[in-house]
Amino acid sequence: MSFVTHISSRRAEKLIWYASTLFSDVPHGFSTRLGGASEKPWNSLNLGPNRGDERAHVEENYRRFCGAIGADVERVVLAKQVHETTVRTVTAADAGKGLWRPRDYAADALITMEPGLPLTVFSADCGIILLREPESGAVGAVHAGWRGCAGGIVEKAVAELCKLSEAEPGQIRAAVGPCIGPVCFTTDSDVPDAMRRALGRSSEAHFEYDYGRNKWRVDLPGLIRECLLRAGVPAAQIDLLRLCTACHPELFWSHRKMGEARGVQAAMIMKPSAP
Ligand SMILES: [Zn+2]
Repeated sequence: MSFVTHISSRRAEKLIWYASTLFSDVPHGFSTRLGGASEKPWNSLNLGPNRGDERAHVEENYRRFCGAIGADVERVVLAKQVHETTVRTVTAADAGKGLWRPRDYAADALITMEPGLPLTVFSADCGIILLREPESGAVGAVHAGWRGCAGGIVEKAVAELCKLSEAEPGQIRAAVGPCIGPVCFTTDSDVPDAMRRALGRSSEAHFEYDYGRNKWRVDLPGLIRECLLRAGVPAAQIDLLRLCTACHPELFWSHRKMGEARGVQAAMIMKPSAP
């Protein structure tokens, strides 16, 4: 199956990030590990505040990434990811939570109608998805590993974004960032079993048995796309980066490749402030 992607790399000094032309009028981006201030093993753009990295380095990394994509660093709102399916509707009262102020929630997906709040989700192999509804300007950011996918977080986030913005799923645009690809994501039967239960037969195109390794290979970005289609997002409005985090340790953070001694990349999106 072939995919069209409108996601390409951008550069500002040493910082490299990815952005989608489907989202061209909205500050957004998928970070890489390049262009940050952190030292080993977080070198160099680590956007995870709770990974043992020096606080001042993480803050500087946020300043650089937000500066590059045009987001307001003082008002970032960070997800607290627990591999569940809570979608939080973020308001101005949440500005700065997770980086500058404590979080009082756990949520793997953030959505908002408020301008000027950079919604942020993280990964080091799991799927990260940005959403927007162009008419109202509503935006969302979703963390979806295989557990989140099987739990329905993608469909739930699209539905809640539609409810919030009084839109139809056909109006939603989605961009899927870097995550582990089918060559590297090998699992036991628990993952395909969960996907079959959640998505039925339409999931089966996205995993196959590798007899050499006695493991399943799972196509996580393909499954996320399947979830977006089920949610009603038109295929032409779904953008997949399709760069595998584990295949590109020079570019991305990968839990499979690096274990716990590593940083995280982020997907961030902000509804623009009124001109
Ligand atoms: Zn790979």
